[in-house]
Amino acid sequence: MTAAHLVRHAAPHTRIAILDPAPSPGLGLAYATRDRRHLLNVRADRMGAWAGEPPHFWRWLEGRGEGWQPGDFVPRAVFGEYVEEIAAGTFALAAQRSITLHHLTASVISCTPGEAGYRLGTEDGGACMARTVLLASGNPMPTPAKLLRGLEHLPPDALLPSAWDASALEAAKASLPTDGTLFILGMGLTMVDTVLTLAGSGYTGTMVALSRHGHLPLPHAPHGPAATHPAEALLQAKPTVRGWVVLLRDAVRQAEAAGGDWRQVIDALRPHTTTLWQRLPDAEKRRFFRHAFALWNIHRHRMAPQVLDQITALQKEGRLRLVKGRLRDVGAQSGRIAVRWRARGGEEQSLRADRLILCAGPGYDFARGGSPLYTQMLRDGLLHPHPSGMGVQVAAEQTGLHLIGTPRIGEALETTAVPELREQAAQAAEALLASITAA
Ligand SMILES: Cc1cc2nc3c(=O)[nH]c(=O)nc-3n(C[C@H](O)[C@H](O)[C@H](O)COP(=O)(O)OP(=O)(O)OC[C@H]3O[C@@H](n4cnc5c(N)ncnc54)[C@H](O)[C@@H]3O)c2cc1C
Repeated sequence: MTAAHLVRHAAPHTRIAILDPAPSPGLGLAYATRDRRHLLNVRADRMGAWAGEPPHFWRWLEGRGEGWQPGDFVPRAVFGEYVEEIAAGTFALAAQRSITLHHLTASVISCTPGEAGYRLGTEDGGACMARTVLLASGNPMPTPAKLLRGLEHLPPDALLPSAWDASALEAAKASLPTDGTLFILGMGLTMVDTVLTLAGSGYTGTMVALSRHGHLPLPHAPHGPAATHPAEALLQAKPTVRGWVVLLRDAVRQAEAAGGDWRQVIDALRPHTTTLWQRLPDAEKRRFFRHAFALWNIHRHRMAPQVLDQITALQKEGRLRLVKGRLRDVGAQSGRIAVRWRARGGEEQSLRADRLILCAGPGYDFARGGSPLYTQMLRDGLLHPHPSGMGVQVAAEQTGLHLIGTPRIGEALETTAVPELREQAAQAAEALLASITAA
């Protein structure tokens, strides 16, 4: 979307390169799925990709005449088609406006400053020079070696490091015994998608998902307005996580007394979340990430009600078991995977599984993550870890370097979903154009 804004506003003869190994720019992890069981977790009328135009996607969808309603949670693949259409329009407009727009299918592994901007080194040994750079790298993948003690003892092919690799998931399913056991690390939206894909495509064995907190994402409720307005009270109060939780609980009680529920409180907070977040001292932000982030995520990043129904049905049929505990280690036993975890009360539990799938969600601690690009940029001081312990920030002297989306989580908290990203994309385009003009 930043490229789309740039093409609308840049001067003719500006040259823009999108470096991304993905075949189709814009789909990313979320919208590249072709599985129609994978639904958006935001309603159609709020998913517009253009800044200031939340209903833009809904209008596009309505034009297809497929009977969707504005409050529906539609397949992410449909949103992918919408993004692809915007991308195609952007390439066409670039040609009309004499702007060079290229998609180079390459993975960037280094970014080093030079006299006229930055040199981006790619995995295939190539390089690209740019006057100004936007890092729009999305969610960082979790690093298996950091999450799984004993990984080196596992049988070959026992681990699926990414639930988003559709062909690896298909191969794993095909080679699993029909009465097999699949162990899933993580219990968030990635686990939900993975379980729906497997159960819906003929896997009849057992699935066991483990997480430290044992919370499933909560469901959306029928389409309703965000009635209560707790942000004012939070803005007036001393900025502490504990104090704000007390105020939010009060707001939830008031919403319930008026016939509503907690969702209205969380939704009313959203336009103010970043302002509130920026008032929290860094120590409080770290406290939030340590103690409240998992709880925040299940309330904030909810799933469609029909998805919860399917998950509940799988649990009732005994095909899905959700367990709460801290993973101790994994190992090999008689050709299978031995998994051990410590349950809430402290007792050790274990099971034997045929495959292990990592659904642990993004690794927001970029300083400890496995990305060569971020490792190098942090090492060379172009980026610094955010003081909250999550995400990164650009070093003050790097005036031509910009960030969008998840890498900004420490600074903004709300920075991963379309309603925030569409505004960030317009702002990023302005900042990039200003960097070119200033150079
Ligand atoms: C499974 C899933 C479901 C989601 N569902 C929703 C939803 O329903 N509604 C919503 O609003 N949000 C949803 N989100 C949030 C989603 O992340 C955003 O909506 C949006 O797609 C993020 O866009 P992005 O451009 O920041 O990152 P992405 O779309 O992830 O794109 C990042 C791109 O950067 C590329 N990249 C990364 N590193 C490098 C590198 N070193 N070199 C070159 N290229 C690189 C990747 O290949 C990728 O194509 C979901 C996220 C996930 C993971």
